Amino acid sequence: MVQRTLSIIKPDAVKKNAIGGVLKYFEDAGLRVAALKKIHLSMEEAKRFYIVHKERPFYNDLASFMSEGPVVVLVIEGEDAIARVRQIMGATNPKDAAPGTIRAAYAENIERNAVHGSDSEKSASYEIPFFFPEIEIH
Ligand code: ATP
Ligand code: MG
Repeated sequence: MVQRTLSIIKPDAVKKNAIGGVLKYFEDAGLRVAALKKIHLSMEEAKRFYIVHKERPFYNDLASFMSEGPVVVLVIEGEDAIARVRQIMGATNPKDAAPGTIRAAYAENIERNAVHGSDSEKSASYEIPFFFPEIEIH
């Protein structure tokens, strides 16, 4: 099934000049960039984006990290895009990330882990319109 998923190149990876590096993983896997922009989230916006984690002990630190500098937000489209993007990203903790994944290449630690990807159709349907109106997705 052709799906759309929301991905974010996080502030640590943007700082490392790794925007092109991350995009290459997705494009080399045959996935398409359907929308893309660089933005700087406020603390409040980062909290709203990650609202599902509001009870987690790392919630405030996560929102602070996600708003420390610009990010690149992407809509990725392709066959089984939600699961495939998660696979290409690698495990949340780079210590567990398989070789050849984005996080194995660029993540620093479990928080500063280079990329985000929607984890389900339900998440994607919240996260894509959070950043992109339909007319900006191609
Ligand atoms: P993402 O949602 O960003 O794609 P994920 O689905 O792999 O990552 P989640 O469990 O949803 O992981 O956590 C969201 C983000 O919160 C992680 O990507 C990471 O930046 C941060 N995070 C997760 N667990 C921890 C932790 N134990 N300590 C600090 N930060 C964490
Ligand atoms: Mg997640």
